[in-house]
Amino acid sequence: MLVAAMNPCPCGFLNHPEKSCACHPNTVQRYHQKVSGPLLDRIDMHIEVSPVKYHELQDTKSSESSQAIRLRILAARQIQQKRYAQQHGTYANAHISRKQVEEFCKLKPDGQGILQMALKKLGLSARAYERILKVARTIADLDGSNSIESQHISEAIQYRSLDRSN
Ligand SMILES: [Zn+2]
Repeated sequence: MLVAAMNPCPCGFLNHPEKSCACHPNTVQRYHQKVSGPLLDRIDMHIEVSPVKYHELQDTKSSESSQAIRLRILAARQIQQKRYAQQHGTYANAHISRKQVEEFCKLKPDGQGILQMALKKLGLSARAYERILKVARTIADLDGSNSIESQHISEAIQYRSLDRSN
């Protein structure tokens, strides 16, 4: 699994809630273009992380425990193992081929509409399109849903923030 991080711009303050970015838009664009499109296409999820404020770090409000998250993930993995039981060498959504995407990541008409609109607006590649469908399948599995609903596809599109900013 590859996990990578980069600054939003050379000065590091683009989209910062309090500080202002000193970079020219062209500089930001050039900076983003250092990471090639084909490489970005191969990364399933891009997420923009904003700075955490000190009082938020101290927040003791209980969030979902790692144990509870682990159980949800295990359940989703089991759903996938079952789904691909007849598919030799495949046991997770991330591994499925283009043909299998067509078979296992079917969208309802409303989901298709959302994805088509996003593709047109963001100018996504065929590779990014497949990634979105696989991630949406996984989000639906985590949700315990047999079908990929519009909220699952919308969430998956949210995880292409670098395509969006380009
Ligand atoms: Zn900047």
